[in-house]
Amino acid sequence: MKATDGAELYNMAVKSERSITPEAKNSFPMNITTLLADPSAISLNYIRSSLNTITLVVKTNASQAICPRCHRSSIRVHSRYIRRVADLPWHGIAVKLELHTRRFRCQNSLCTQRIFCERLPRVVAHYARKTIRLNTALELIGFPIGGEASLHGN
Ligand SMILES: [Zn+2]
Repeated sequence: MKATDGAELYNMAVKSERSITPEAKNSFPMNITTLLADPSAISLNYIRSSLNTITLVVKTNASQAICPRCHRSSIRVHSRYIRRVADLPWHGIAVKLELHTRRFRCQNSLCTQRIFCERLPRVVAHYARKTIRLNTALELIGFPIGGEASLHGN
């Protein structure tokens, strides 16, 4: 299948007779209106382009993160790392997010979680390789998530 941009994917999904989940219907139009999946959570540093790929180099905005175990916030950065995930393609060109993100130390001395990665629930799931909006777009056009594209439909 040829890669298309988010609006084309959405139109294809609407034209097709596949069922669209209410969650996908509600979340998708909101997400295709901005360059970044969640501008409140991430900021664009710069754009790097090559022949076949556009890379959006982004950083997280929050000065603190919530421990997933004790749910207390922490401002103590332990380390930084880079995640690379696929985002919605743009006019047939693959788009990747190079997400500069952090690990935090939990500041709660009673918590068993020493270190945790900051989460971006509206951008990408914890261990995912694709952004949430790309997964939503693929669901809308009937791609089995995490599997190969079906060439023959159902
Ligand atoms: Zn904790």
